[in-house]
Amino acid sequence: MHHFIYKDNQLFCESVAIADIAEAVGTPFYLYSHATLTHHFNTFDKSFGELPHLTCFAVKSCSNLAILRLFSTLGGGADIVSGGELYRSMKAGIDPRRIIYSGVGKTEDELRYGLVSGILMFNIESEQELEKLQEIAREQEMVAPVSFRINPDVDPKTHAYISTGLAKNKFGIPIDQAEKIYLRAKEMEHIRILGVSCHIGSQLTDISPFTEALHKVKLFVNRLETLGISIDYLDLGGGLGVRYQDEKPPHPQEYARALSEEMEGLKCTLILEPGRVIVGNAGILVSQVIYTKRTQAKNFIIVDAAMNDLARPSLYDAHHDILPVIRKAGQAEEVLETADVVGPICETGDFLAKDRQVTVFEQGDLVAVMSSGAYGFTMSSNYNSRPRAAEVLVKDDQFFIIRNRENYETLIRDENIPDFLE
Ligand SMILES: *Cc1c(COP(=O)(O)O)cnc(C)c1O
Repeated sequence: MHHFIYKDNQLFCESVAIADIAEAVGTPFYLYSHATLTHHFNTFDKSFGELPHLTCFAVKSCSNLAILRLFSTLGGGADIVSGGELYRSMKAGIDPRRIIYSGVGKTEDELRYGLVSGILMFNIESEQELEKLQEIAREQEMVAPVSFRINPDVDPKTHAYISTGLAKNKFGIPIDQAEKIYLRAKEMEHIRILGVSCHIGSQLTDISPFTEALHKVKLFVNRLETLGISIDYLDLGGGLGVRYQDEKPPHPQEYARALSEEMEGLKCTLILEPGRVIVGNAGILVSQVIYTKRTQAKNFIIVDAAMNDLARPSLYDAHHDILPVIRKAGQAEEVLETADVVGPICETGDFLAKDRQVTVFEQGDLVAVMSSGAYGFTMSSNYNSRPRAAEVLVKDDQFFIIRNRENYETLIRDENIPDFLE
């Protein structure tokens, strides 16, 4: 469910006409619905009912401070993958005791920062990382709480670039080597074992890979018990998919029910790290048509948002619906044409949609790129020296700029010309 709907041929976000925001803010901009974000977070979190659990939002999917603050007020924690994400999560008011730190390449500084900040636990992904953390904890005279990310070798049946739980992926510790590392950690004075983790991929539209992974992890937890290692937290990662086009992902309630059944008999607290399923359909990218170019071979709709703003189509061939912000009135049936919706960047790979049936857009029309809330702004860059887009949050009949549009000064702010060139 989301709150981007047409009223009298005008696309609204909650009670605000999107065209009015474009008028005030300019284009392109990301637009998020407060009601949708809240609804998605609560639906997900409450689906687990009485089962002891903690929902740690995957910050990398959408990391604006205002959005993190919202999830924090709803009782959420954070799943982070860098020192920068730790910094912004704490700035947003998320309690460090609800923060989980994942990722294969945490640097020494990042490990120290997480430790002294008092995060809930580190998901350790290699033996060298464990040794490094032990060293840092000793130097700080602290005990570091850890979980190990197990690679369960389960096929998530998703895009190859977003599969993470196969033996050939770089993530986690192979399940058959995991026992050794737990035994090693058990001996370490400055390490405290808290959990077992796994995260098998993103945009999963089938429940069975999750239950298969959980089953393998559960057997492993039982095995650890026999070795005298007790586990308080079982972290199943994120990965639940959303509908971009015609996918039929399971409802969070179905997902929660399946996991809860599999959790039976375990005394651990379940940790979940959802990203996309919370924010994916809670945000859109709004852009304006600069020019149209209709040739023998193709029709091109050239808009002011590009692959630097939304990388997913170029990177993963991802589908995003492209809708008019204002539908042409007076037409009984919408007239469509096949076109490429492209940005101004000097790359053939710069497109938002390819060979797509879209409304016949004209110069100046506003375009809504739907389902862009996850891995949208957070993956944006300054390629072609394009200032990054603004981010706007709508609540009821009001809108708030939650990130200013970058400008030419911010583009070069951190660059220096060495003296010898002056
Ligand atoms: C990316 C990631 C997530 C979030 O994945 P979604 O598919 O957005 O739910 C959760 N945990 C880890 C460790 C991740 O790398």
